[in-house]
Amino acid sequence: LPRLSTPRGIRDIDPSEFAIFERIRNAFVDTAELYGFSLMEPATIEFLSTLEAKSGPDIMKEVYAFTDKAGRDLALRFDLTVGLTRYVVSNRALKMPVKLASFADMWRYDEPQMGRYRWFYQWDIEIFGVKDVAAEAEVISFTKHFFNKLGLKVKLHISDRKLVEEYVRKNLGIQDDLLVLELIRALDKSSKKSKEEILVEYVKKGIPAAALESVIELGKRKGPLLDELDRLEKEGLWVTGLKELARLSRSMGIDDFLTLDLSIARGLDYYSGIVFEAILEDRKSIGSLAGGGRYDALLKAFGRGDLSAVGVAGGVERTAMALGTVPSTPLKKGVFVAYAQPSLRDRALALTEHLRTMGVCCETDLLGKGLGAQLEYASSRYGLSLILGERELNRGSVILKDLAAGQQEEIPLNQLEDKLKTLLA
Ligand code: AMP
Repeated sequence: LPRLSTPRGIRDIDPSEFAIFERIRNAFVDTAELYGFSLMEPATIEFLSTLEAKSGPDIMKEVYAFTDKAGRDLALRFDLTVGLTRYVVSNRALKMPVKLASFADMWRYDEPQMGRYRWFYQWDIEIFGVKDVAAEAEVISFTKHFFNKLGLKVKLHISDRKLVEEYVRKNLGIQDDLLVLELIRALDKSSKKSKEEILVEYVKKGIPAAALESVIELGKRKGPLLDELDRLEKEGLWVTGLKELARLSRSMGIDDFLTLDLSIARGLDYYSGIVFEAILEDRKSIGSLAGGGRYDALLKAFGRGDLSAVGVAGGVERTAMALGTVPSTPLKKGVFVAYAQPSLRDRALALTEHLRTMGVCCETDLLGKGLGAQLEYASSRYGLSLILGERELNRGSVILKDLAAGQQEEIPLNQLEDKLKTLLA
């Protein structure tokens, strides 16, 4: 026998989880429509070199890379942003702004733990070609609307990499680009790892401990957006981008969704400006439900320094966890076709075939089970059942049973279509 288990970090999505995924997908597709985003899916496999552009060392360690039969270096996509960006950059005829939405799966050789898998789904939206914070505001508004629709209480923790960069260059006097980037990477880890762990990891890489400590301290700045920005401004820090966004979000009425959190830096190197993560208010332990920001650095790496882009991606598995198990699935809008004795199975199959061509959702028992067992199954899935019996069929009729109420009546077959259409309308 082959192994029947799945590889570590990769699992099946069973029907109950799939139902929650569908709910999330529907909420996403509806929101994408509401905001005027076009749905598409970027390629699942890319050239390794495409993924390497500006993604950063951490994610490259997690990429599922392989050589194909012709010796090409390829990799499975680890997010949707890179593929969507490659698509936009390589289609010069596209008119800006381009607003794309995608809901698909991806692979990362991550360390599996609660809410962290090696194969998982994300929903993702991107706006290309808008340099103004209007794009951030639209993406943030989308995120708020989407989580609201699902009934999840989420706050958006927001920061600006430019602010942090200014702090590192001006206040710490560090100008080396690589050093600045390492400090931002260290800051990104400050909410997940202890200060000691970060110091050990980064001092080994040659980053000065004092600078690391200052950056970790900066990461502790959190609180109501406008108040905190005022304070940071008084300390001489660059807050222009976030201030503009705060003003715009206030006029749009979405400012209550935002909270300043300078520990947010995002792990991927392609981010260049405002960055944010959506965090569940009452269950922070699930981790971030979504993350995004402005990523001009990626466009530059793809040769389109003239373009700018903002996007957000959310984890579907984590959102499903936040939603918890959905209360028992509602009864299907349709009818079960039961039969009183095994000899009537073929008649039942013929009737289901007919009903389906009429657009009525239905199924019958394929195993020739007893009527009791058929009706038990029917009651768990449907509100209505037909029962085929020899006597009624000879009279040209069938029994229609309301499974919840337990009542039944005999219906002539030539009236069945109308009757079902009225009941199921
Ligand atoms: P990222 O693409 O890393 O910015 O992640 C965006 C969102 O995807 C996160 O906020 C998580 O909700 C989700 N996510 C990231 N990595 C994983 C993973 N390994 N397993 C499940 N969800 C993930």
